[in-house]
Amino acid sequence: MKIICIGRNYAKHIEELANEKPAHPVVFLKPDSAILPNKNPFFIPPFSNNVHYEVEVLVKINKVGKFIDAKFAHKYYDEIGLGIDFTARDVQDECKEKGLPWEKAKAFDGSAVIGEFYPKEQFDLRNISFQLYKNNTLVQDGKSNAMLWKIDELIAYVSQYFTLKKGDIIFTGTPEGVGKVSENDVLKGVLEGREAFQIRVK
Ligand code: ZN
Repeated sequence: MKIICIGRNYAKHIEELANEKPAHPVVFLKPDSAILPNKNPFFIPPFSNNVHYEVEVLVKINKVGKFIDAKFAHKYYDEIGLGIDFTARDVQDECKEKGLPWEKAKAFDGSAVIGEFYPKEQFDLRNISFQLYKNNTLVQDGKSNAMLWKIDELIAYVSQYFTLKKGDIIFTGTPEGVGKVSENDVLKGVLEGREAFQIRVK
């Protein structure tokens, strides 16, 4: 399986990182080795002094597809979830400055937290509400209606480049409020009132 991630999909997050608003979705991949095993803590990697959490709505692909039309994209997923795209922001800043790829900053071991998935029928997909709590303090509070590109548009876009396969997961981008993690932090993700994950940082 592969993980396809979308960057810069929320206007206020683009502002907080002083990035330019893209003309097309920003896309990058994480390998399956990036998945943080269930119930494991997240270990801050030795190569970064500034790892950020980014809470994101996840979409699990249910069948193979290529050049999917946005109006049929809903047939390619049954489940929605919540996760974290951990980002070594210091490493990413260096990559961006030099125009280099982001993998070292975004695709390292443990950088993909994949929480529970739920049937999509349980949600109003245009307006999914999701939160990240750090040590019980609300740090990110998102609504999927603030996405620049909606789930079905993202599926259409990325499937022009990558054949989507059953089990692939799309990280749909993070809203504002990203920040640094420290040892012993506890990160809890909530998707429409359901606790989708809880992660301890080591
Ligand atoms: Zn992200």
